[in-house]
Amino acid sequence: PRAAAPARYATALDALHTVYGYDSFRGDQAAIIDQLVSGGDAIVLMPTGGGKSVCYQVPALVREGTGLVVSPLIALMHDQVDALTANGVRAAYLNSTQSAPERAEVERAYLAGELDLIYVAPERLSNTATVRLLQQGTLSVIAIDEAHCVSQWGHDFRPDYLTLGDLGEKFPGVPRVALTATATAETHREITERLRLPEARHFVASFDRPNIQYRIDPKVDVRAQLTSFIRSQGEGVAGIVYALSRSSVEQTATYLREQGIDAIPYHAGLPAEVRSENQARFLREDGVVVVATIAFGMGIDKPDVRFVAHIDLPKSVEGYYQETGRAGRDGEPSVAWMAYGLADVVQQRRFIQQGDGDRAIKQRQNQHLDAMLALCETVSCRRQNLLGYFGQQAQPCGNCDTCLTPPESWDGLIPAQKLLSTIVRLQRERRQSFGAGHLIDILRGASTERIRSMRHDELSTYGLGADLSDAQWRSVVRQMLAQGLMQAQGEYGTLGLSEASAGVLSGSTPVQLRRDVLTRVGKGAKTAG
Ligand code: ADP
Ligand code: ZN
Repeated sequence: PRAAAPARYATALDALHTVYGYDSFRGDQAAIIDQLVSGGDAIVLMPTGGGKSVCYQVPALVREGTGLVVSPLIALMHDQVDALTANGVRAAYLNSTQSAPERAEVERAYLAGELDLIYVAPERLSNTATVRLLQQGTLSVIAIDEAHCVSQWGHDFRPDYLTLGDLGEKFPGVPRVALTATATAETHREITERLRLPEARHFVASFDRPNIQYRIDPKVDVRAQLTSFIRSQGEGVAGIVYALSRSSVEQTATYLREQGIDAIPYHAGLPAEVRSENQARFLREDGVVVVATIAFGMGIDKPDVRFVAHIDLPKSVEGYYQETGRAGRDGEPSVAWMAYGLADVVQQRRFIQQGDGDRAIKQRQNQHLDAMLALCETVSCRRQNLLGYFGQQAQPCGNCDTCLTPPESWDGLIPAQKLLSTIVRLQRERRQSFGAGHLIDILRGASTERIRSMRHDELSTYGLGADLSDAQWRSVVRQMLAQGLMQAQGEYGTLGLSEASAGVLSGSTPVQLRRDVLTRVGKGAKTAG
């Protein structure tokens, strides 16, 4: 048999002191490490900055053998391995960017038991030669990082992750840990099922990031708003500005530079040298603002990012949470600011419509977008809404814009009742259910082919809601869904009653809605065709 890398440290705390220079474990770290060191599996949901790396690196240093880390981003492996090597950890990676001799050297070192950690990209593990090689040595632990990539409904699906379910059979007896900073119940379930971890212990950390202040404004003149936001953060602070398109990244960076802000662009279309130069400046220097597409930031460990700004609406709450989570990893006060407008919504609906994917996938993407909009439109605490999305309870935080300056709201009871009674009538009288679009058409008294052919113009609520625009009605629908006053049901997400609907229909449950900011298209935002 080949040599196994010997245990480097007698105890987990030893490894933490010596390698990382920290005094004590944080949160669930110690319990997670115990579980793995004693040979059990684990699923770890921990927010960005929570300290996930220690959870699998320390077991690799304490157990005999080499820790295998599956990580989706080749670009990051290099940085992670460099950082570990600098701390005296014997780490290496196997990926497609290496030359044959480099790869051979890593393989030799692994088989000779000279590696504490080996990083591989997920696609490597569908390669039988790689699996055979790894089987010839000894693994101490298998870590699957960014485990949410296995979720087909999530925002970051990677097909290669689906093949990771059989790692338990390929490497029997090696404890496995799946880690992610995404915490929806659904992603959690998918990780458990698809990575086949039925026996795993689950560690779900609080997703609250109390030092981040959440602020969301309607888009009016987004460049001017962004500039004044950045200036209000003080001199010399580092920040990230997220935009959806490459052209918007470039234009925004140029504009900010003209305003005297040290802004640099980052997106996948830039030459590799420019990207790594820009990333290096951001990490090294003070006061650099990176304007980037969401390609930037995964795995970037810069603790003192003081703000994250979104000038376009993220596609999902998961994405928003992950991106804003890159602010304030050092625990110091930081701000997550966003501006969004009607044009964003129209554009994203069109992307979904024109994208590939079957009806069920599009339905899901629309639901993700609706949840994001519900966060934008909430009359209550943003943090409560955000944590609620991840299934966690919280009190109003006092550190978000809605807590600090309560928004204008209006009494939406009457429109809510009109909508619910339309749903009830269609269900009772005709055994039919519909999505928001058609219900709004009925309420606004539209004369569509569908309405005429189904004789929905004969319903008693037909035309009763003509006082609100289509956009206002959609906002009512989103906010009612977000407040649980009705629910989306079935494969097509048609609207149905929830437990709370009865109270609205009887008038005993108040319906407070945020004054709709999405009925005007802001200046500087493109109007949709
Ligand atoms: P994640 O992968 O969850 O985003 P990291 O593993 O990158 O988080 O850790 C975030 C930061 O916290 C890093 O700078 C890391 O060195 C630091 N850290 C991790 N564990 C501890 C600890 N026990 N004590 C102090 N700092 C820690
Ligand atoms: Zn709040």
